[in-house]
Amino acid sequence: MKRCPFCRGPIEQRHIEHVHRWQGRLYILRNVPAEVCTQCGEVFFAPDALKAMDEIVMSRPKPQSRRSVPVFSL
Ligand SMILES: [Zn+2]
Repeated sequence: MKRCPFCRGPIEQRHIEHVHRWQGRLYILRNVPAEVCTQCGEVFFAPDALKAMDEIVMSRPKPQSRRSVPVFSL
């Protein structure tokens, strides 16, 4: 089994929701394949997933849905 390089915890394959920040905009990407450390929660993306996310934010296809995000300042 794969181990987390940070805490040596076990890593699990999951599909996650990832918030991607690009040029001051936020993109919510759902169903992203990732490896997640079950101990510290660190997320690792496969090169293919990173490439796919970059392609989405660069080509800006029509999103499946939009959400509004509340912003606060302390
Ligand atoms: Zn970990």
